Amino acid sequence: MLRPFELHQPASVAEASRLRGRYGDDAGFYAGGTELLLVMKEGLLRYAHLIDLKTIPALDGIAHDAGSNALRIGALATHTAIERSPVVERHFPLLAEVEQTVANVRVKNVGTIGGNLCFAEPHADPGTLCVACEAAVRLEGPSGGRDLSADEFFVGAYETARGADEVVTEVRLPLPGPHTRGAYMKFGFHERPTLGVAVVLTLDPGHAHVVESRVAVGCVNPRPARLREVEAKIDGRTVAEVLRTLDEISQVVDGAVTPADDLHGSAEYKTEMTKVFVRRGIRAACARFNGRRTS
Ligand SMILES: Cc1cc2nc3c(=O)[nH]c(=O)nc-3n(C[C@H](O)[C@H](O)[C@H](O)COP(=O)(O)OP(=O)(O)OC[C@H]3O[C@@H](n4cnc5c(N)ncnc54)[C@H](O)[C@@H]3O)c2cc1C
Repeated sequence: MLRPFELHQPASVAEASRLRGRYGDDAGFYAGGTELLLVMKEGLLRYAHLIDLKTIPALDGIAHDAGSNALRIGALATHTAIERSPVVERHFPLLAEVEQTVANVRVKNVGTIGGNLCFAEPHADPGTLCVACEAAVRLEGPSGGRDLSADEFFVGAYETARGADEVVTEVRLPLPGPHTRGAYMKFGFHERPTLGVAVVLTLDPGHAHVVESRVAVGCVNPRPARLREVEAKIDGRTVAEVLRTLDEISQVVDGAVTPADDLHGSAEYKTEMTKVFVRRGIRAACARFNGRRTS
């Protein structure tokens, strides 16, 4: 049973932040509620006050910012809104692809990207793409605003660098250039993903060499993380060489992930699956240079 709580409906981020300051640990921010209400029903969190962020205007916008050449997504944008957004489809189709695989229709229609990132459940998808794409997370609190890279934002399982009275207002994804392509490979047999691998490759204009690679893995570590050991094996090499040596490249996953045994499988299984998905992700990203799609 859900215990009774008082619902506050602030009109601004500053008011939301003030309410959190006033009620302290008795209060929590509430977006779609798909995680929050579950943990409250389980009695894992007990809030006497919920601060509804949905009443704050303009926190759910999705726009292309030509000045910074980035996709700006309001924290209150739902997974469905992002998946169906023509702006996302035009500028960052890979994000729409990832959102398509998230949860079920009921959760997607109310669950928000901000809630997904703030809850920091290790078995999640958008955070892994955000880390690979070097997205920035905008936070606003009583002492002003600040931007953190997605990598800095995620601290551990269910743990982020967000201060208790800070509201995440926006996620900013730099748009891929003309010689950048990406792929996201996901696997799962429960409701939540067991594994997610995001690969973003930038090639030289002739598409022969890898100039820069960014590979991130989610679900197997406590937080989504770059696989820098894998990236170091790819950068500077020719695409042909990378594709020829995928087995060798994926072996470095051994020292790079720290999975735990859980309902999704043993640590050994997850490590082996990560190698498979790293290989598939690199192959899929390379294949995208043969088509017109830009990410
Ligand atoms: C059945 C099921 C299947 C799922 N499958 C997937 C999946 O396949 N992939 C995946 O990635 N996710 C999956 N999820 C997770 C889902 O994406 C999240 O539940 C959803 O995005 C959370 O958003 P919300 O708006 O409901 O957050 P809420 O539940 O409202 O909030 C979650 C937490 O974040 C805080 N919070 C929310 N918004 C903000 C903000 N703007 N600023 C500061 N704090 C904030 C809240 O205080 C709370 O602690 C699944 C969830 C369910 C229930």
